[in-house]
Amino acid sequence: MKKIATLRAALFDMDGTLYDSMPNHARAWMRMCEEQGLEAAPEEFFLHEGATGAAIIDMLIRRTHGRPATDDEKRDLYAIKSRYFSELPAAGIMPGALELVEEMQHRGVITVLVTGSGQASLIERLQHDFPGAFPAERCVTAASVTRGKPHPEPFLKGLELAGVRADEAVAFDNAPLGTTSAVRAGIFTVGVVTGPMPREALEQTGADIVYNSMPDCTKHVFDLL
Ligand code: MG
Repeated sequence: MKKIATLRAALFDMDGTLYDSMPNHARAWMRMCEEQGLEAAPEEFFLHEGATGAAIIDMLIRRTHGRPATDDEKRDLYAIKSRYFSELPAAGIMPGALELVEEMQHRGVITVLVTGSGQASLIERLQHDFPGAFPAERCVTAASVTRGKPHPEPFLKGLELAGVRADEAVAFDNAPLGTTSAVRAGIFTVGVVTGPMPREALEQTGADIVYNSMPDCTKHVFDLL
């Protein structure tokens, strides 16, 4: 297990970590794919969770049409998917997530958002649901990076925004692409199982520890930090 020197920053994934939003994302992607005639299955949106919308659209277009997606398709199809997501009932805060973020704030740890999402509706809600935790200058989104998770760039950018080194931070993510990104960035990585992906999928990415739920994580993680 990696060692944290002094904990100064906590980096949080959003979908499936702070919000129970993955089922809605899968539903919105499927609706867009069905309407556009793109081949897809609901499970794969959990598997590719954390990748940017552009990367997912490129994969879908390559599969159905045998060519890369154009920039227009990446923009337009993501806009459609985002609209369908916004039309669904609002996703709840993941149980245990607010307590975890508040305890970090209480301890004076800098909190940073590291999401592959460009979903404005959810990013705006964060300001209301997690007061003071994720101001715009401490949010890494799809717009902030050129290479999304599993590349280390998003979490490296998160460290930069917090102004800390990798060994002064902890990362929380529920998806294999996310924990891979954090591990590659050299950060102490906490994987949390919150959906259909099995814990082995997170363990195999080299996550330092994996919890079976967010409440479990919130209850036990401070023993390690
Ligand atoms: Mg996630």
